[in-house]
Amino acid sequence: MALHAELHRHLGGSVVPRILWRYLEQNSSELISRFTEYSTFEEYYTGKRNTLDEYLELHTLVESVQIVETLPYFIYRLIRGAYIFENLAYLELRYTPYLRTPDTFNQSQRIEKMAEIVDIVGKASQISEYPVITSQILCMHSRLPYEVNKAIIDLAAQNKHYVCAVDIAGGDIYYRERLEEWISLYDYALSLGLNTTGHLYETSNGCYPELLPYLRRIGHGIQIPLLYPELLPDLAKHQQCLEVCPTTYIKTGTLQDISKLKTVFDLCFANGVDIAICTDNAGLHNMRLPFEYENLLTHNIINFQQLQACQDAAFRHAFAWPHSQGPASLLNGLLNPKL
Ligand SMILES: [Zn+2]
Repeated sequence: MALHAELHRHLGGSVVPRILWRYLEQNSSELISRFTEYSTFEEYYTGKRNTLDEYLELHTLVESVQIVETLPYFIYRLIRGAYIFENLAYLELRYTPYLRTPDTFNQSQRIEKMAEIVDIVGKASQISEYPVITSQILCMHSRLPYEVNKAIIDLAAQNKHYVCAVDIAGGDIYYRERLEEWISLYDYALSLGLNTTGHLYETSNGCYPELLPYLRRIGHGIQIPLLYPELLPDLAKHQQCLEVCPTTYIKTGTLQDISKLKTVFDLCFANGVDIAICTDNAGLHNMRLPFEYENLLTHNIINFQQLQACQDAAFRHAFAWPHSQGPASLLNGLLNPKL
């Protein structure tokens, strides 16, 4: 059995459609009143969008039901599925804690409530019958004000037992007008000893070389090899890993065809830039990590050796993997003690 590491998965997008449907049904939610049956809901929920903005809209649907009272319900099912169907040994789960707080609160009340959310997510992720090592990445959000984003960084720094890094999300086109602010926030995060990643170079609207020096890993980053391959040697030098999420680019309309990813992988391998293959929003995509791997092989985008290099890279670049080796050597010791 191969055990995998998932470095880029959103809490909101990780609810598989069937689980969400059952939850909404059991709670007689108005959110599904316009769907006559499950199949039309699934079609709507997992369908292709025209832009990244439209795609991100869907997150608000899930965010509205993932609140203090329901987070344990969704997280339990998420970890169970990750263990049983995906063979995950390691999972970094990301979200914006502010968006899980009640919108009836004012800003300072919502900021205060965020600590409870981190605690709930942390506790709910530890399930002894599904032993997956988990950690949280807290996402700053491009549409939230400076004070909230700074509070998210402070919260991450105060909860290193649960949180391994900070990220920026919410649509990469919106960073431009507040670029200096993002730089100072990342600078602040690094000064507190936090790890960093960021949704960057996902679309051609999200290319900000000014932010690259602040990132340990790059969320997506596919436009670097596609549009700015001259940046790759620098990424290799600083050992910055790309978190590539193949299905996302088709769902958001960023790439028309998955074969475009061959250039991404080829150029990264040629320049010594590591890639971790991830799912991003496994639930929204109706996708699981092992199928992402298989898909890339089937489409001849990578070969088997390259796949294994990406799988190893995921453990190497994991912010909170507690072992010095990958799971294969650990399992050898456990299952074949004579070896
Ligand atoms: Zn993402």
